[in-house]
Amino acid sequence: MFEQFKEWYDNRHEYAKKWKERTGGKVLGTFCTYVPEEILYAADILPVRILGSHEPQDVSEPHIFAMFCPFCRDCLAQGLKGRYDYLDGITIAQSCLHIRQTFTSWDLHIPVDFRYYLPHPMHVQSPQAIPYLTEELKVFKKAIEEWTGKEISNDDLNRGIEIMNKNRRLLQQVYELRKKPNPPLTGLEAMLMVVSSQMTDKREHNKALEELLQKLPSRSLDESGERLMILGSEDDDTEFVAMVEDLGARIVIDEHCTGTRYFYEEVNTNGDALASIAERYVNRVPCPSKDWPERTRLDHIIKLAKEYDVQGVIVMQMKFCDPHELDTPAIKEALENDVGIPTIFLEFDVTVPIGQFKTRVEAFLEIIREEDLF
Ligand code: SF4
Repeated sequence: MFEQFKEWYDNRHEYAKKWKERTGGKVLGTFCTYVPEEILYAADILPVRILGSHEPQDVSEPHIFAMFCPFCRDCLAQGLKGRYDYLDGITIAQSCLHIRQTFTSWDLHIPVDFRYYLPHPMHVQSPQAIPYLTEELKVFKKAIEEWTGKEISNDDLNRGIEIMNKNRRLLQQVYELRKKPNPPLTGLEAMLMVVSSQMTDKREHNKALEELLQKLPSRSLDESGERLMILGSEDDDTEFVAMVEDLGARIVIDEHCTGTRYFYEEVNTNGDALASIAERYVNRVPCPSKDWPERTRLDHIIKLAKEYDVQGVIVMQMKFCDPHELDTPAIKEALENDVGIPTIFLEFDVTVPIGQFKTRVEAFLEIIREEDLF
């Protein structure tokens, strides 16, 4: 049922190359989750999220300090190795400084036809954030129009919004099924589904989701064990998720930037298109780099944990990721002390094999099992 999503995930570069051949369109690499893909779909551009490969590498060292997060170095390594050589351009909307360095180094050392830095507000809790971003989106739209030589009409923008919203809605419908006592999909399948949405044409992805939703509600998997949540920054660590689920647990929900933080919340379709897009990207569940002065993400995490009846949380910390590391103590305290959900903190680095986590996750599952006895 999930073979198509795995195929897209595994063969992302071949997919994008074939998409180009088939459509004659442009492919734009995006960093992080704040790039307004609605405008790219409106311009018939394929947005492709730039992600790492989880392999050790030694090519990014001259360009990014070793104390920057391994994810942003892994992403740059993919560019330096030529794996994204089909990209016509790259763009970033400001999120954290580490990934911005990836964008800057990519821009300096890897030739592309178009590059765009979108100054997305960091102080998203400011009343000025939406009007500010709306103006920035106008400039971004103009730059895209000049690059493609084609004007983007209001109808185009509404079409782009609908493509993105439909994908969000369908993913949400699948996620709703994960609330069931015995969810009909594994955490690994959910991860392949959501991450593949970020590297394929969403119109194709939507079709695959619609077909999936016809069959999935009646699917029955073997009874699963402990219901877990994973949370953190970027996480498409399929090997780790498979390992956790092989130990008998089931990951039923996530709160990270290649999962729910990417697709939660639709764009309002009633108002001015660009203002509505700005509103969505300012009001969405924030990356911790933008979640201040109030820490709003905590309530959202607790709400998810309750809705999905979570028994334990794995905090997946990317090594050297300052924004997330700053949030971790507050998250652990809120989960453990306020709602009594145990957590485990694991520090990830692409150069460290995940096998070392097995014993720690086993011990964590034992704690949950013992707590369930009382
Ligand atoms: S938010 Fe964290 S994991 Fe993501 S790019 Fe920034 S430092 Fe790396």
